[in-house]
Amino acid sequence: MSTSFIRDRPYLAKERASDITMPKLVICPLCGGFLWRPIACTTCETPFCKSCIKNWKAERTEPIPCPENCTEFIERKCPAGYLYALSELKLTCLNKSHGCNETLPYNNLETHEESCNYRLKTCPGCRTEIIRMEFDEHCAQCPLFLLTCPECNTSYQRQYAGEHNDTVCLRIQLRQLQDNHTQHQQEANERITPLEDQIRSLRQLVESLKNVQIDTQ
Ligand SMILES: [Zn+2]
Ligand SMILES: [Zn+2]
Ligand SMILES: [Zn+2]
Ligand SMILES: [Zn+2]
Ligand SMILES: [Zn+2]
Repeated sequence: MSTSFIRDRPYLAKERASDITMPKLVICPLCGGFLWRPIACTTCETPFCKSCIKNWKAERTEPIPCPENCTEFIERKCPAGYLYALSELKLTCLNKSHGCNETLPYNNLETHEESCNYRLKTCPGCRTEIIRMEFDEHCAQCPLFLLTCPECNTSYQRQYAGEHNDTVCLRIQLRQLQDNHTQHQQEANERITPLEDQIRSLRQLVESLKNVQIDTQ
């Protein structure tokens, strides 16, 4: 019995295989893609992607049935046969559409994709996605990229770097010094005020002791 419930976007779409010689065995019934980090149902031993089962469970209440209709889904390790079949797969890199032409064994895919030169990174300035290979070059000239002045620690977009001239920078540094000074003064006051209070009450104590002495004489 197979479910036709295909909703999750597969992590590994079938189209990623360079040639599909053993399709059915290694396909997740929930997402229709290749099994990714598979786990299986203890009863029927059908494997599913771990993330697909997580989504499946999130939408149901206990006892959660197996997607293949067993009364309850009890997780077990994916049977070795499936893992072997998966290890035989050759897949294209996730970043193929950005220019990566690598074809990788299933088990090396994740490591490659993490370090792939065609992986997209977001420029913190203009928020554009750029392939890793061109990222540094882009950031080195992106007009919206944030620069930080080493003198005054102020950040500004590269396009406004010209406006941050010596006069502006010195003015900012002066304000920072003034702010610092004011803050120090406040801190000093906060330390002095309770001391003054203590001195005042000590004086009062001394005065009252004097009075006691005078009274008893
Ligand atoms: Zn799946
Ligand atoms: Zn089952
Ligand atoms: Zn790649
Ligand atoms: Zn940019
Ligand atoms: Zn500055």
